[in-house]
Amino acid sequence: VTFDPALRWFDRLNLAQAIPLFLLQNALLFAGTVVFGNAISRRWSHRRIAAEVQGDRRGEMMLGLVAIVMNTIVTIVGWWLWQRGMIRLTGKVSFAVIGEVIAFTLVLDGLMYLGHRIGHHPTFYPTIHRYHHRFVEPRAATLFALHPVEAVGFGFLWIAALVITSAVGYTVSGFAVGVFTSINLVFGVLGHVGVDPLPDRVRSSRLFRWIATPGFHVGHHLNPTYNHGFFTTWWDRVFDSIDPEYDAARLKPLIPIHT
Ligand SMILES: [Zn+2]
Ligand SMILES: [Zn+2]
Repeated sequence: VTFDPALRWFDRLNLAQAIPLFLLQNALLFAGTVVFGNAISRRWSHRRIAAEVQGDRRGEMMLGLVAIVMNTIVTIVGWWLWQRGMIRLTGKVSFAVIGEVIAFTLVLDGLMYLGHRIGHHPTFYPTIHRYHHRFVEPRAATLFALHPVEAVGFGFLWIAALVITSAVGYTVSGFAVGVFTSINLVFGVLGHVGVDPLPDRVRSSRLFRWIATPGFHVGHHLNPTYNHGFFTTWWDRVFDSIDPEYDAARLKPLIPIHT
């Protein structure tokens, strides 16, 4: 399987074509995430772990719209660097994709944990990360409620990882980047929908001791002192920033919140 024709198509775009295309793509990603996430919240409403949000919350949608613009800027910069060979991608799909996805996810997990801890530092929290925490009970749209600096910061972690990988001579598969994007979105959505669709026996399994469950990031919204990780619980365990009650709750059958 090869995505080379698709890569060539993107390579032929000019800036005037790329800007509206990537803006549309990021707007659709936002809209799709909100629609899909809200559907999950409804479908698993019997497994609520955070109170349901009613009506509009001031600023949540506005921050989301700004995030679309910021994500578009990140996409354009990534595309521009790729066109100039600073990011190298192959259209080929091989078994290497599995290793690349795992490596990329683990590296970004560490970088995002570090970035998130910096976001909670008293120097940056009041001006930047506080905007995400205005929304105590999360919902799908909260995923995009980020200060513009934060939205760009997350994006540039991806770009930095890809530029460094390319600089050391490794050509990553574009398909692997796409799979990672999906993983990032799935964890982002499940961490914000306020419900836990995971069956109890899955959530309490040994694997999900290490993989973040939906309750992990919801717990961070309810008490921002704990749970700064995104994909794994690893760094919170290493640096002792995990909610001390997280595992006990994870091992028990879910006690849903009724609102
Ligand atoms: Zn959040
Ligand atoms: Zn936070």
